[in-house]
Amino acid sequence: MVCQYGEQLEKLVKEAEPYAAEGKVADYIPALAKADQGILAVSIFDGKETCFSAGHSTEMFTLQSISKVLTLALALMDHGEEVVFDKVGMEPTGDPYNSIAKLESLVAKPLNPMINAGALAVSHLIKGESTEERLERLLQLIRKMCARPSVTYNREVAQSEFNTADLNRSLAFFMKQHRIIDENVDQLLDFYTKQCAIEVDCDDLARIGFVLANGGKNEEGEEIIPFEIARLVKTFMVTCGMYNSSGEFAIRVGIPAKSGVSGGIVGAVPNNIGIGIYGPALDEKGNSVAGMKLLEALSSYYHLSIF
Ligand code: GLU
Repeated sequence: MVCQYGEQLEKLVKEAEPYAAEGKVADYIPALAKADQGILAVSIFDGKETCFSAGHSTEMFTLQSISKVLTLALALMDHGEEVVFDKVGMEPTGDPYNSIAKLESLVAKPLNPMINAGALAVSHLIKGESTEERLERLLQLIRKMCARPSVTYNREVAQSEFNTADLNRSLAFFMKQHRIIDENVDQLLDFYTKQCAIEVDCDDLARIGFVLANGGKNEEGEEIIPFEIARLVKTFMVTCGMYNSSGEFAIRVGIPAKSGVSGGIVGAVPNNIGIGIYGPALDEKGNSVAGMKLLEALSSYYHLSIF
């Protein structure tokens, strides 16, 4: 396809791909260990044409922590800021995403919705009588953002994480003791692991990024997320979206983004484009190694930094 992203995108993927060898596929969720370490893919959606893609862009992968951005949006739509930020803070932690350390020292509430403790507290707020109803409401939001009604979750990945999520269970039990959540921990984990296992490809992620970039509206101007919530979510992506690399990422790349341990990264360049990346080999903090290199190259080549 002839466009400003055409050939250059292929070239940038080829240049970033070898960095995958420096990373390692996540295996603490056993089903994720099956991913192909060497893969790198990107899609860009500018709201005007179909997505522009390069690399293995039809590969499906699970959202993992990228889902935290979407549950945050839905919880804010369900309850408003006051209720949500009564349960979770707004500050970066500098700690790993699954750390329990600050929960005890601060007691009051998890520091932000992008770490696991904060995400569990946010998932707890999603309205619905059952896990199925909560999940369906989240899927409906995501399907609208992706413009793909068939989006669903990967049962094998969800079950694999549910069976091994003892650290997340510990975070949830801790928060239950301190009245941050008040539901059955396994019921919350059932929803959380299914939310993390929602499956997409790079085009879907690029479209999700575009809606956030476009103030919550899709390419046809339909409001999917209120403007103020899209703004708030993008701000969290800048301050806490790339785990405890968010500071360096803001300097080197400067794009609101959120990554997940599957190797996905969603980027939202305000009033411009959505970006979807997949590269399952991760660095020690949990970010896609080749994906980060690719985003840095894209940002520099197309002048995408918001700073
Ligand atoms: N489901 C993963 C977990 O809770 C998500 C982590 C991530 O992608 O950062 O461990």
